[in-house]
Amino acid sequence: MKLRIGSGYDVHRLVSGRKLTIGGVTIPFERGLKGHSDADVLVHAVCDAVLGAAGLGDIGRHFPDSDPAYKDISSLILLKRCANMMEEQGYSIENIDCTIFAQAPKLEPYKEEMEHKIAAAIEISSESVNVKATTTEGLGFEGKGEGIAAHAVVLIAKISSLKLNSASE
Ligand SMILES: [Zn+2]
Repeated sequence: MKLRIGSGYDVHRLVSGRKLTIGGVTIPFERGLKGHSDADVLVHAVCDAVLGAAGLGDIGRHFPDSDPAYKDISSLILLKRCANMMEEQGYSIENIDCTIFAQAPKLEPYKEEMEHKIAAAIEISSESVNVKATTTEGLGFEGKGEGIAAHAVVLIAKISSLKLNSASE
């Protein structure tokens, strides 16, 4: 079985007057993440990891900030499209592991719901998705509350040779 790994990293600035959506979950907080879409930093990292694993570039290439079609769009829709592109290459997701870096708010109560939302968006078992969260002990932009970062790793496995030029595999 051919396996491939991908990683994704994303950062968004925390600003007033925006909803805070992380992992598809809207979290009560006095500020939200700034961005063209819903600025879901965790889902963007997962998108990049999925695309990266399949050798399909990155999220900016497929869903440019300049395109009004993506204004305020739920990033879970973008993730679904990324997963579809990966599946067209003949792969399926084995597992996703990710970490959110945020000083506040406390994300512990929302991690399981994030796992369910991400898994549901791409139609995999929520047991295949693991979400972790950490503070940075007050250090850096996350620690100062200027922004939130997320990192994701995705493992994918080849399930079919749908890709036309797969004769050598
Ligand atoms: Zn982003």
